[in-house]
Amino acid sequence: MDYGFNEIQEMIRDLTHRIAEERVKPQRARLDDEEVYPHEIMKTFAQSDMLGIYIPEEYGGLGGGCMELCIATEEISKVCGGVAVCFAANALGSYPIILFGTEEQKKKYLPRIASGEYYAAFALTEPNVGSDASAVETKAREDGDYFILNGSKQWITNGGSADVLTVFASTAPEKGARGISAFIVEKDTPGFIVGSKEKKLGIRCSDTCELRFEDCRVPKENLLGKKNRGFLVAMATFEKSRPGIGAQAVGIAQGALDEAIEFARQRVQFGQPVSSFQAIQHMMADCAMQVEAARLLVYHAARAVDADAPDASKLSAMAKTFASDVAMKVTIDAIQMCGGSGYMREFPMEKYMRDAKITQIYEGTNQIQRTIIGLHLVKEAAARKKGKK
Ligand SMILES: Cc1cc2nc3c(=O)[nH]c(=O)nc-3n(C[C@H](O)[C@H](O)[C@H](O)COP(=O)(O)OP(=O)(O)OC[C@H]3O[C@@H](n4cnc5c(N)ncnc54)[C@H](O)[C@@H]3O)c2cc1C
Repeated sequence: MDYGFNEIQEMIRDLTHRIAEERVKPQRARLDDEEVYPHEIMKTFAQSDMLGIYIPEEYGGLGGGCMELCIATEEISKVCGGVAVCFAANALGSYPIILFGTEEQKKKYLPRIASGEYYAAFALTEPNVGSDASAVETKAREDGDYFILNGSKQWITNGGSADVLTVFASTAPEKGARGISAFIVEKDTPGFIVGSKEKKLGIRCSDTCELRFEDCRVPKENLLGKKNRGFLVAMATFEKSRPGIGAQAVGIAQGALDEAIEFARQRVQFGQPVSSFQAIQHMMADCAMQVEAARLLVYHAARAVDADAPDASKLSAMAKTFASDVAMKVTIDAIQMCGGSGYMREFPMEKYMRDAKITQIYEGTNQIQRTIIGLHLVKEAAARKKGKK
């Protein structure tokens, strides 16, 4: 199918597909079983210039955007959703610098992230702060040329492997969302501590950690964006990154469906391949239609984000929600098409289902996304009405 990719986008798709098939596929079961971070695969991505595809050229990247990131994330996810999140979490950690960094901050960090010298992470969530991101409890107080951070973060992807992190802390607790600031924290900063690593249902090779800040001294030049405007940094970042979660979901769903169809073609019952039964073909057809619809919505949202379209935020939430719901449904049906084999851990199907589940949860749950979409719809209707008057 022609998705209107340009030459560079086709090159990114083909290159990522090749690395996913040759380097990720043979490793994915082991990485999942052992729950280890894919250092060697990340090095391969770095050597292929893939870690900078969304970073502007003047800072050492390829100058692509959300669309290029989605294309690469989808291809990796077709093979392994866990490796895909290790790859994509770098973008989540560096978008705040791309969007809000000073020239000095961009020059210092982006070329290193693009080359793979630095991995990045995004630290917002805390033990008492999940969907209500405005309730950040980690505090930052000023002390001469420094901000002193105290508090903790939980479930931070790349938390243990990141060299540089965007961290959100409250600089004016009485102001709620308007009192949060964003900071660039380097891993060697005194008072920054990586805590325990989580054991998870899926995306097991990704590194999901607790972080602690104990009188952590962050130089004032590492304030990202304006003081007390950190909530805006977080929300603007999610708008850019959510289509990437949609792409992860599309890739997982497509990968599961492809493997299920291949299995059904080989598996013989009642003297014929199970793929010849209409019940199985209808399930395949329903899955394929949903995956294709999700993919088109993800690409549409990614292009809207890259064009700074006025409805980019709504489309971004729609793409993430629709694609992740599709991934969950398709991976369950893909197991069904494979019968008992699909349930066995020696076969990749159950991993696809475990990996799919997170896409409905992180970067804002699908309940929260539906609220965001609903708010946009009401606002748009009010604006239309006002325009008519
Ligand atoms: C594997 C993993 C990796 C992650 N990586 C990162 C990361 O790198 N950086 C980071 O900052 N965070 C990360 N997170 C955190 C993630 O973004 C949060 O888990 C997510 O935002 C939801 O918060 P919560 O889990 O605390 O759920 P809660 O907010 O406690 O919600 C529980 C349930 O209530 C529902 N709910 C809550 N409020 C509402 C409402 N107003 N209306 C309707 N329903 C509501 C939710 O949808 C959910 O179903 C990660 C999480 C996981 C599991």
